[in-house]
Amino acid sequence: MSKPKLFIPGPVDVAPETYAAMAGPTIGHRGADFEELYASIQPGIRKIVGTTRPVFFSTSSAWGVMEGCVRNLVKKKVLNLCCGAFSDKWFDVSLSCGKEAEKIQVEWGQPIDPEMVREKLSGGGFDTVTLVHNETSTGVLNPLKEIVEVVKSFDDVLMVVDTVSSLSAMPIGFDELGLDVLLAGVQKALALPPGLAVFATSEAALERAASVPDRGYYFDFCEFAKNDAKHNTPSTPAIPHLYGLRERVEVIMAEGLEERYERHRENNRMVHEWGARHGFDLLPPEGFRSLSLSCFVTPGNLDQSGWIKSVIANHGFAINGGYGKIKGQTFRISNMGNETAETMQELLDALDTELPKFLS
Ligand SMILES: *Cc1c(COP(=O)(O)O)cnc(C)c1O
Repeated sequence: MSKPKLFIPGPVDVAPETYAAMAGPTIGHRGADFEELYASIQPGIRKIVGTTRPVFFSTSSAWGVMEGCVRNLVKKKVLNLCCGAFSDKWFDVSLSCGKEAEKIQVEWGQPIDPEMVREKLSGGGFDTVTLVHNETSTGVLNPLKEIVEVVKSFDDVLMVVDTVSSLSAMPIGFDELGLDVLLAGVQKALALPPGLAVFATSEAALERAASVPDRGYYFDFCEFAKNDAKHNTPSTPAIPHLYGLRERVEVIMAEGLEERYERHRENNRMVHEWGARHGFDLLPPEGFRSLSLSCFVTPGNLDQSGWIKSVIANHGFAINGGYGKIKGQTFRISNMGNETAETMQELLDALDTELPKFLS
């Protein structure tokens, strides 16, 4: 049976060209063929990340590197900025790694307030801050630049940013912002199948890691840096994913980053306008809304689960009925990856066709 096309906010729909690229031949990873593959991806992925530094490839989902950030960087205490399912969980992960951790917790749907970060850091004792740029569970786009400016005003505090659902969908700029770690799983904004994460580290982050004794092996940032010098990875990488990433990066470069950002902005606007026509409210406040997905509040007169099922059954498109503790109270529509005005319109038409059957 064919599966629905995914308009959930990750994993998202994968292009046939990407699958085809992933079917390339298995090669030994300690040899020239692999070094060539690794090196060929670097210029493009560095442009996407906005850095002249290497971008590392981790055979894991995003959480591997997220946990790795805690294990590599936290010597004193980490401040986890919590505003939804993924950012909240980062605090739990910090504790489960045995680290000292504190959090700033805002209500789901609200962004992180940079002034709250300033106040907390002023208390002293922190050496690392984690932020989810685009909180996929709530559709909140955090004020990255403002938060980074606050964190940078404190000495020796590293800024770690999760860009899983924003990298390549909107401008970020690792070097320009002066980030210490930027990471992303590839199955959301980059539109590859799940199983690989990419990340960049500052010199300061690598220095910190080198001074942390119990950082383990698999996600050891120093191992990644050492192997990168030989265009290689610490352990056997997911070679099919790297073929896929090479293909995606080529496509993104051919489209142009600015054009890609604009396409996402436009497609996101279409979804917002569609929602407004139906009187659906977005969960996040104006000014803090994601450009790669839309999170709407479920109206009381909508049988959401019936609607979503019927869109899948009759049209073959899947949207998401809310994540974590706001499951059932919100619904989310992704415009990440390869979607165009035409494909977004197909989805919105399908949603419209089924909607009246489930409104009371
Ligand atoms: C999906 C997601 C994650 C977790 O990704 P995994 O692939 O499950 O490890 C982390 N952060 C954000 C913002 C996400 O959207």
